[in-house]
Amino acid sequence: MIDLQKIKSGDRRQLAKAITLIESTREEDQYNSVILLEEALSLRKKDTFRIGITGSPGVGKSTFIETFGLYLTSLNYKVAILAIDPSSPTSGGSILGDKTRMERLSVEPNAFIRPSPSAGYLGGVAQKTRETILLCEAAQFDFILVETVGVGQSEFDVADMVDFFLLLILPSGGDELQGIKKGILELADTILINKADGEHLDAAKKTQSQYHSAIQITKSNSAWTNQVLLNSSLDDKNCAELFKILNQYKKIHSENKLWETKRAKQNVHWFHKLTNELLLKTISQNEQNKIQLQKLTKQVESQEKTPLSAAKSLIDLITK
Ligand code: GDP
Repeated sequence: MIDLQKIKSGDRRQLAKAITLIESTREEDQYNSVILLEEALSLRKKDTFRIGITGSPGVGKSTFIETFGLYLTSLNYKVAILAIDPSSPTSGGSILGDKTRMERLSVEPNAFIRPSPSAGYLGGVAQKTRETILLCEAAQFDFILVETVGVGQSEFDVADMVDFFLLLILPSGGDELQGIKKGILELADTILINKADGEHLDAAKKTQSQYHSAIQITKSNSAWTNQVLLNSSLDDKNCAELFKILNQYKKIHSENKLWETKRAKQNVHWFHKLTNELLLKTISQNEQNKIQLQKLTKQVESQEKTPLSAAKSLIDLITK
C-alpha cells in the first residue's frame, strides 16, 4: 500500500512506487491509482512552479537542467525532473533517456529525476506525466521541470501542463531562424540561446538579436513579453538571471490572476480530453458499437461523411 503521508514527508521510495503504480496498466492498479491521485490532489503543494523545457537533441537540455537544477537546490528548493520522450515507443531506444544524464543532480538529495514512461496509456505518455506532476507536488517539490524533445505533439503536450515554457536553441549566426517548428515560438515564454560561450559567443549574440525581432510579431496581446537570453551551462553564472525572470513571470501572472486561470484551463482541457478518450473506449467495449464506430471512421476517412455528422450518428446510437 502506498502511504501518501510518507510521500509528503519526503520518502523517495514511496514516491517512486506511487509513480510506478500510476504507470501500471493492470486493471486493479488503475483503480488504485485513481484513488491515490484524488488524495494527492488534496495534499499537494499548491505554490509550485511547473516549467517545460524543449529543444532539439544536442542543444544542451540535460546539461542545462543539471546546472539550473543544482542552482535551485543550492537555494534550498526541491526540484523534480520529469521527461516526455515521444520517441521511445517506436524506436525502441529513446532520445532522452539513454545517455548517462545529470550525474551530479541525480545524487542531490533535494532533486528527483524520473525518466519518461513508455507509451500505451489512456491519454498517452503526457497523461502519465501530468499525474506524476501531481504526485511530485504531493511530495512537496517546489519546481517541476518537464523536459521534451521536438518530436510530434510533445511540445504542445508539455506547454499544456506547465506554467512557463522554455525553448533552447543553438547559436547559428546565420540569417534564418533555424528549423523551428511552426507554433513553437509562440509557445515559448523565454528563449535561451544556449552554448553562448567561447567561440560560439558572437554567433549567440547575433542569434539573440534575430530572435528578438522574430518574437516582436508573436504573442502581442499577452501580459508577458517574451525574453531572449544568452545561456551557457558550463557554469551557473546565467542561472540568477533566468531565476529572476521566472519570479517576474510568476509575479505578473499571479497579480493578474492569469496564473490560476492558466492552470484551470489546462485542467479543464485535460478533463475533456480524457472524457473523449474514455467515451470512445467505453463505446468500443460493446461489439455492435465498435463495428459502427469503425464504419463511421472509414466514412470520415473517405469523406463520405463529415466528422460532425459521424459524431452525431455515434451519439444517437449510444443514447437511443
Ligand atoms: P540534450 O540532448 O539537449 O540533452 O544535450 P546535452 O545536454 O546532452 O548536451 C549536448 C552536448 O553539448 C554535450 O556534449 C554537452 O557537454 C554540450 N553542452 C551542453 N551545454 C553546453 C554549454 O552551455 N556550452 C557548451 N560549450 N557546451 C554545452
